[in-house]
Amino acid sequence: MTVLLLKSAQLADGSLFDIEITDQVITAMAPNLSASELTQQIDCSGLIVLPGFVDLHTHLREPGFEQSETVLTASRSAAAGGFTAVHAMANTSPVADTAGVVEQVQALGLAAGFVDVVPIGAVTVGLEGLRLAEIGAMANSKAKVRVFSDDGKCVFDPVLMRHALEYVKAFDGVVAQHAQEPRLTEGAQMHEGEVSANLGLTGWPAVAEEAIIARDVLLAEHVGSRLHICHLSTAGSVEIIRWAKARGVQVTAEVTPHHLLLTDELARTYDPVFKVNPPLRTQADVLALREALIDGTIDIIATDHAPHPTESKDCEWASAAFGMIGLETAASVAIDVLIKSEKSNWQRLTEVLSVNPAKIGRLTEQGQSIRVGSVANLVAIDPNASTVVGQTQSKSENNPFKGLELPGKVVHTIYRGYATLLNGKVAEAGRI
Ligand SMILES: [Zn+2]
Repeated sequence: MTVLLLKSAQLADGSLFDIEITDQVITAMAPNLSASELTQQIDCSGLIVLPGFVDLHTHLREPGFEQSETVLTASRSAAAGGFTAVHAMANTSPVADTAGVVEQVQALGLAAGFVDVVPIGAVTVGLEGLRLAEIGAMANSKAKVRVFSDDGKCVFDPVLMRHALEYVKAFDGVVAQHAQEPRLTEGAQMHEGEVSANLGLTGWPAVAEEAIIARDVLLAEHVGSRLHICHLSTAGSVEIIRWAKARGVQVTAEVTPHHLLLTDELARTYDPVFKVNPPLRTQADVLALREALIDGTIDIIATDHAPHPTESKDCEWASAAFGMIGLETAASVAIDVLIKSEKSNWQRLTEVLSVNPAKIGRLTEQGQSIRVGSVANLVAIDPNASTVVGQTQSKSENNPFKGLELPGKVVHTIYRGYATLLNGKVAEAGRI
């Protein structure tokens, strides 16, 4: 039996507690709890303690792309960022389109022991968009997959999309769409607008995202199934989601940290660290996304953590890979947008980084409110400190915020009663 005692933890509502954790579970909460000799005490004075963060969109790259990242390195990066669960995107090699592969990914996560690694299943075989993958077998596997996505590629065929939505309904699953009309984005390198015209790079029009979202919210309404939209990036997409939610469509939406902070102006540097799919958009889009996150139109922040080795980014813009890492900077961006802006509060931050992503993924032991009986997945943040973005636990360094000073600092992460991050240091070994 292990006992942890978090001393002087301030919760999102401002209340102060000592929190006792026995093995995996919160066993006592009171303003002043005393410790026995066997108790490990963790000082939380001046820190805000929240439910551990849950990422609905992480590329862990294993199996198949271990030169970019492994389940272990991504898990350590997640712990450093305050996460206690990450959803593993299916575009690995082999693709996570069978029960065997999703169970393998889950097992790698358990062996690493830093976060719950929750596999996402592919919608179509090999992400090829031609026929449905073994969705039922993945849902019934040990991994109990509930989120299905061809992320990186759009499920473009409307008939396949309809069938996928019908299929997942049977077990309360959700299809997470990467909304990118393929014909409208052939050869696209960045957002289509003034900057792309100046630079002479092929543009990626906002309508290529919006057209697919519009189609899919109508399909989800028709089928009566759950739909999730990955990485919303335009003001028009926000309008469509707002409209769909007002009609009662079961749709949820995510925004990435980079789309909340960065614009297409950065392409003028020609630094491929700013090349991402969907592309960075305009300042007007950034403002619309921020507002939508605050007013609830957008449900969650998801990192779309996409590690790439140096050789895939240290080259010309046109030949560079799309994607950015983001697990260790997500909390700071959320603090910047919601808290430092004085436009929202810690409760909303908890919803968008923990409660809502856990709900969408149907995770019952994550995103729980902090009370006696809850599984001890927690994060402690210093709201007054700041972080200069630099070293990372990830195997890749393609972080667009590198060198920037961002508000807030993740100090401790408690994963199922085990400190994966303590005083800003990642544990040597994971939880067994
Ligand atoms: Zn994507």
